[in-house]
Amino acid sequence: MTEFHFELKTYRRFPITITKGEGAYIFTDTGKKILDLYGGHAVSSTGHCHPHVVKAIKEQVEKIIFYSNIVDIPIRNESIKLLGDILPDNLNSIFFVNSGSEANDNAIKIARRATGRKKILSLSDSYHGRTLAALSVTGLSGYQRAIDPMQEERTIIPSGDRNRLAQELKTKQYAGIILEPIQSMGGLIQHHRDYLLDVISLGSQTGTKVIFDEVQTGMGRMGRYFFSNDPDLCPDIMTTAKGLASGVPMGAVVVSKDIASSIDYGDLGSTFGGAPLACAALKATIEVIQQESLLENVTETRGYLDNKLKEISCIKEIRGEGFLMGLKFDGSAKPVQKFLLDNNILTGLSADPEILRLMPPLNLTITEASQLVQVLHKYSESI
Ligand code: PMP
Repeated sequence: MTEFHFELKTYRRFPITITKGEGAYIFTDTGKKILDLYGGHAVSSTGHCHPHVVKAIKEQVEKIIFYSNIVDIPIRNESIKLLGDILPDNLNSIFFVNSGSEANDNAIKIARRATGRKKILSLSDSYHGRTLAALSVTGLSGYQRAIDPMQEERTIIPSGDRNRLAQELKTKQYAGIILEPIQSMGGLIQHHRDYLLDVISLGSQTGTKVIFDEVQTGMGRMGRYFFSNDPDLCPDIMTTAKGLASGVPMGAVVVSKDIASSIDYGDLGSTFGGAPLACAALKATIEVIQQESLLENVTETRGYLDNKLKEISCIKEIRGEGFLMGLKFDGSAKPVQKFLLDNNILTGLSADPEILRLMPPLNLTITEASQLVQVLHKYSESI
């Protein structure tokens, strides 16, 4: 492992050095082949280096690497058309950015612009990113240490508290409410459907724009394209990023027609947003998901995992939906994560110390998933 010399500290690193990726596997400098259930940080939607995605990127590189949004570029139009076809019905105006945080900052900006109000409501245990606005609405306070930037302009309320939600929204002072449909970093916390229905209906009654942060739940991870592809649970604004372009940096903010009409030239912009390489990768990603029936694969493989993992006694609860999955253990999940890595399976943790987090590529097969089941049986027998 390389020591930090010229790089600021960011993440505490996993104790491996990766030199290559192929499908659901990554390869280390010491020749180990590791099953990647961390999915490159929930990013490698089509697996590592999917040949169709690699080909699309190579072809685009040879045409033009970059030109900004200030000109028309065919690949951007083609990818917008494909993305438009899979978006929730009432969300049809897209603004491309480069990351989840940038998408959330812009969603906040758009909600403020559309309503003329300033304040944003968000939930405890939420994570929305590291830029100032996204960080300020992040409910997991550990991330805000000494920085907490916009205290005046946001309120964080306990997640799931319907009375408090109604009480705040009825003041009609909020431009928007931002939430993750499933709180991933918070520990795979799933909201009750009734709570989400309340958010949608109170939002519309009080003129508050509902923003769903689908940075993790989007792009097929739920076994459907987006959590918001549910006519009863469709927000006014949706943000997404992570697996959108199979690992080429890309984020998007998507808004309803009504909100789109409040945005004019000059209100929004991003030099690299909607770059040709990212658009080529986005188009190829959607094509792979469709051609290889990856939504069906997510549902089927998740069903297999649910059935097999519930037989393992040390797993106390299985959380999440599709390939955004949490396994709850009695006590810390760290030793489980270590045991799995010692057995060549990479997984993640979350803010809840008892939760092991899995965010595998959407093309993880049942045979590959069975490796996890076997190793967890071995772990269960060893304790
Ligand atoms: N929202 C959610 C739900 C996330 O999980 C993340 C990243 N973990 C972000 C926003 C921020 O995305 P990025 O790191 O691309 O800025």
